[in-house]
Amino acid sequence: MNVSVVLFTADLRVHDHPPLLAAHEADEVVPLFVRDRAVADCGFAAPNRLAFLADSLRDLDNALRERGGRLIVRSGDIVDEVCKVVAETDAGEVHMAGDVSAYAHLRERRLRRALESQGRRLHVHDTVTTAVAPGEVTPASSDHFAVFTPYFRQWSKVHQRDPLAAPRTVRVPDGGTGSETLPSRSGVPGLSEGLAAGGEAEGRKRLTAWLRGGIGTYEDRHDDLAGDATSRLSSHLHFGTLSPVELVHRARRAGGPGGEAFVRQIAWRDFHRQVLAARPGAASSDYRTKHDRWRSGREAREDVEAWQEGRTGYPVVDAAMRQLRYEGWMHNRGRLLTASFLTKTLYVDWRVGARHFLDLLVDGDIANNQMNWQWMAGTGTDSRPNRVLNPVTQGRRYDPDGAYVRRWVPELAGIDGPAVHEPWKQRGLDRAGLDDYPDPIVELSEGLTRFRQARGRD
Ligand code: FAD
Repeated sequence: MNVSVVLFTADLRVHDHPPLLAAHEADEVVPLFVRDRAVADCGFAAPNRLAFLADSLRDLDNALRERGGRLIVRSGDIVDEVCKVVAETDAGEVHMAGDVSAYAHLRERRLRRALESQGRRLHVHDTVTTAVAPGEVTPASSDHFAVFTPYFRQWSKVHQRDPLAAPRTVRVPDGGTGSETLPSRSGVPGLSEGLAAGGEAEGRKRLTAWLRGGIGTYEDRHDDLAGDATSRLSSHLHFGTLSPVELVHRARRAGGPGGEAFVRQIAWRDFHRQVLAARPGAASSDYRTKHDRWRSGREAREDVEAWQEGRTGYPVVDAAMRQLRYEGWMHNRGRLLTASFLTKTLYVDWRVGARHFLDLLVDGDIANNQMNWQWMAGTGTDSRPNRVLNPVTQGRRYDPDGAYVRRWVPELAGIDGPAVHEPWKQRGLDRAGLDDYPDPIVELSEGLTRFRQARGRD
């Protein structure tokens, strides 16, 4: 009887899962998830993501049980735990998905060494966590693309495999390997009140609704803050409860400008992944340094607190920061303008903002978060690194009626229309609640001058 282990990491699904299908070629499969101590130790295990993970593990276990199997969950050092399960089941092979962070590379190297020393083999599969594997397309002169447009051109030409069906049955060894009790979200303290549910079944439901309803207007409406017209599939992509290959395939089939625009966003996700895979240090160091001497000290700390709490006095910034705290998710346009506000208008280090996002975002993802923060800070791959987004102009453009601000900043609910983006102009007009809302913590012109001087562009 030959046995294979399939090690789930950021791919918590049964549909379109190459490692599961490859492991399934053995007589028996051991589906395994390890709650990796290193992830908790480095502070990455934020409550919102732990809850989504708990939902997703339960759902994966259900999907495996429907097919005759079940999920084994262990906690500890991932290499030790995999080796223990391999020894207990006498498995000859371990199958898992490739991933891009420095930690994922280290994990893979350690695991391969440990398994090979016991005469077992590790198989790492591509196109599980990305649609196109990092390094599959490269420019002539480098190991990765630093500019999106030529990357996307090449990316679009890659022949992408068809999505794979979920296996009908999963044959697991009788008895044998013990599992811990599956975690549950009810045991996780400090969750955002409006946190979405996790799990593949939930992800597939959301995907079907998106393909029927939302994708058609995506190109026109993706920047509409109040319209909330994006897919909200990011956390499913982060945990792999949905497959990027399947998303690209189905969005292409849906077609139209919406389908194309959506596929382009999935390519952005792959783009940041191939940058991080080639430059793992970019998770914490400037990709292209501007030798910033970011503000620090008491005043800067107070500004950061106001930004985190959604009390900067700039309504659209505050609305977005409050959405983040309440839902553990923020609209992309909100992410762009709050990141510009922190790094450019307040001139605070992008790592401070990235950390706060990672503490709350259910889709918090090293590649997407750190590389997008660097993009906005002008230390990443943006070809216009010194552009600054004006929060009043952004508010008027992407929340023209002010509905997004009124939804998240109740102190301003009494101001009609776009005037809500400049509440200071309403002072003295006896507006209910306005006194509870702070004055701007910084003049935009002052922030702009400080930033330009710092970057040597005044
Ligand atoms: P949709 O608009 O429906 O897009 C579909 C998918 O495309 C997304 O789910 C996502 O996987 C991908 N995508 C969309 N925009 C981007 C982008 N700019 N870069 C890379 N991939 C993209 N995304 C994360 O998944 N995790 C993060 O931690 C994260 N942090 C961010 C931090 C900042 C400062 C910024 C500016 C952006 C960040 N993003 C992050 C990217 C983007 O904001 C989110 O992916 C998107 O808002 C998720 O909503 P959605 O699923 O409705 O997106």
